Amino acid sequence: MSSVVNVADIFGENVFNDAVMQERLPKKTYKELKKTIEEGKELAATTADVIAHEMKEWAIEKGATHYSHWFQPLTGATAEKHDSFISAPRSDGKVLMEFSGKELIKGEPDASSFPSGGLRSTFEARGYTAWDCTSPAFVKKDPEGTGAILYIPTAFCSYTGEALDQKTPLLRSMEAINKQSVRLLRLFGNTTSQKVIPSVGIEQEYFLVDRDKYLKRKDLVFTGRTLFGAMPPKGQELDDHYFGAIRERIAAFMKDVNEELWKMGVSAKTQHNEVAPGQHELAPIYEQCNVAVDHNQLVMETLKQVAYRHNLHCLLHEKPFEGVNGSGKHNNWSLVTDDGINLLDPGKTPHENIQFLLVLTCVLRAVDRHAELLRESASDVGNDHRLGANEAPPAIISAYLGEQLEDVLTQLINTGEAAHSLKGGKLHTGVSTLPDFAKDATDRNRTSPFAFTGNKFEFRMVGSRDSVAAPNVVLNTIVAEAFSDACDVLEAADDFQMAVHNLIKQYASEHQRIVFNGNGYSEEWVKEAERRGLPNIKTMVESVEYLTTEDTVQMFEKFDVFTRAELESRAEIKYETYSKAVNIEARSMIDIASKHIVPAVIHYVTSLANSINQVKQANSNASTVVQDKLLVQASELLTDTQNALEKLISVTDEVAKKEIGREQAYFIMQEVVPVMGQLRKPVDELEMIVDKSMWPMPSYGDLLFEV
Ligand code: ADP
Ligand code: MG
Repeated sequence: MSSVVNVADIFGENVFNDAVMQERLPKKTYKELKKTIEEGKELAATTADVIAHEMKEWAIEKGATHYSHWFQPLTGATAEKHDSFISAPRSDGKVLMEFSGKELIKGEPDASSFPSGGLRSTFEARGYTAWDCTSPAFVKKDPEGTGAILYIPTAFCSYTGEALDQKTPLLRSMEAINKQSVRLLRLFGNTTSQKVIPSVGIEQEYFLVDRDKYLKRKDLVFTGRTLFGAMPPKGQELDDHYFGAIRERIAAFMKDVNEELWKMGVSAKTQHNEVAPGQHELAPIYEQCNVAVDHNQLVMETLKQVAYRHNLHCLLHEKPFEGVNGSGKHNNWSLVTDDGINLLDPGKTPHENIQFLLVLTCVLRAVDRHAELLRESASDVGNDHRLGANEAPPAIISAYLGEQLEDVLTQLINTGEAAHSLKGGKLHTGVSTLPDFAKDATDRNRTSPFAFTGNKFEFRMVGSRDSVAAPNVVLNTIVAEAFSDACDVLEAADDFQMAVHNLIKQYASEHQRIVFNGNGYSEEWVKEAERRGLPNIKTMVESVEYLTTEDTVQMFEKFDVFTRAELESRAEIKYETYSKAVNIEARSMIDIASKHIVPAVIHYVTSLANSINQVKQANSNASTVVQDKLLVQASELLTDTQNALEKLISVTDEVAKKEIGREQAYFIMQEVVPVMGQLRKPVDELEMIVDKSMWPMPSYGDLLFEV
């Protein structure tokens, strides 16, 4: 790659974006497609044919030979199957490059091995992919630039329309929030905005390790996290890595990542070193929810691929290293109209302030009523190790509003009006009894899982490896429900001003318990939250049942986001995913401990024994007290290791006897996971005393500080 790039030139060069469509599509076709994108109107078959043809011509110019319906099954990753553009050979033996409207709009990957949670056995084995024309198609080139594929973002459904992916419910939830938001805006006299779209910006954390060292860590290779490993003498206590100067090797990696992403239209914007050694962050500029979700998948894939080229390995696991910060994703979320009004922007006039306060209290109501569900949406196997430890948000959902806003709400609750504002002294109280206030993004609270940061909410609980689709499905739908409830009240009111005022006060009072501005990492907060009756769901397994509570099912069905069957299938998949992942971890531990660690320690104790014998033989007066001590210590720990290993083998043998699903997942969480901890403990202690040259894998120090 050349060393100087003009970002403006390369940005979006491989995207079939609006500019390309305008330039290449006949006016009429372009207009029809725009209508479909903006209003969700169905696309005529003839129009689709024209678009497909132009898209293919454009992609071929970019070097593409194949197209792929790109989708997001319930594995957390993306899936693709490539079909070349070639038609059946003609009589003269030549082929044409073809791509029809039908092929663009709909695909039938024989993808029956993706998790469906039982949905497909009841309905149809086949899954179908359907073009999501609101997320632009793009061409992805392989690193050498020799091959390229046209990627078409799609949704993945069963024959009868059940969602088998992340995308389908996301699009449905965007529809729900759009409808209810517009309804709310109309009540406030807005007659111009046609559409409200959730805007999402995702900050992605990740670790980079040297690939040669990575390959020597079978635990990282098999599970994405270290299953053993003692802390190095230096950790992150000095905070010298956070926002530190970026080393050359990492800078070269980041440069390539940015360029790849820019070409695919991902607006990679900020990059910096994170708190832990070896940890970094990348954040693109926010965009429409479904596009942001697609782009986050591209970010994760690109990080992995580019790392490979730089002989690095990118770890996206939530907790690759015990005792060091984990990685998460910050899901920045706001609601923006098609004419650019952000519903979470406090605004300048009292009138705007009232609307803002209603939106804000609706969000609080939504989050309080569905805290368990929101917590569930951020649960994945790795996040269990991250939440509540080493500067990660706790598993308790609370909302941070900042001093000024919290004060306004408290005044409203206590006196029915907010007569003054903490900041800025004098207030411009207009006709209403509510103050206006400048957006206050100054005091950020990094410990809150759900923080208001000026004109958006930042949900910080999401795991680094997880898709951000689920959290956004939940956010969109729970807020749609709160808006819908509010509109029901307000539409029936005689005195709108009075009704809004009362509703804000009511919601603020009823849901004040969810607001917390203090230190979310503290032990006091855990107690205080319990006193307030807020749920503290510590594990993924315990959170899954909240997908199928009556409350959840009713809400999702009311807004046509999920059916009961779809929710039940998702719960099944989550239990199974958990069981499979932890089972692999347990088996990897058994493998590594028995084949590598135990033999290495035996080797070490034998060398100690030999040393003792040889020293004594050479001179019976010479002291072997050090060797003796180490020999006893190592032998004891070796015994502990072997005992725990045998216990882990027998308990994992039990797993298969449990019924797949909830029962198995609970068994693993309660019986297998603790024994994994029992095996890890003596091994980590052994690592501290065994001769480094004999230890069978690179240490934390090697992995974290020698990149
Ligand atoms: P932080 O201080 O948390 O790093 P930034 O200002 O850098 O915050 O923004 C983090 C992410 O939030 C970026 O992806 C940014 O584009 C996004 N963001 C900014 N404003 C909004 C908004 N109104 N809605 C959604 N996301 C936003
Ligand atoms: Mg942030």
